[in-house]
Amino acid sequence: MTKNDKIAWLQQNALDSYIKARAKAEKELDELTPMFCFCGKLATGFHTSHCKKYQDRIKTKIVDQLGYLIPSKQ
Ligand SMILES: [Zn+2]
Repeated sequence: MTKNDKIAWLQQNALDSYIKARAKAEKELDELTPMFCFCGKLATGFHTSHCKKYQDRIKTKIVDQLGYLIPSKQ
């Protein structure tokens, strides 16, 4: 499974946990990027919600948190 597959699986099968993990990941990443995004641009809410790098970090964190829920054989 790719990271995007895992995110899709979590959205379909563990939406409640996914929403909580996403909120936690966003909070942690906002603390890491008070001024600038990982890509070097100003970290406005509009930017980070569209930034591929930022969204990718969020996905990584969610999968790290919830990976144990995903069946290993897929
Ligand atoms: Zn960015």
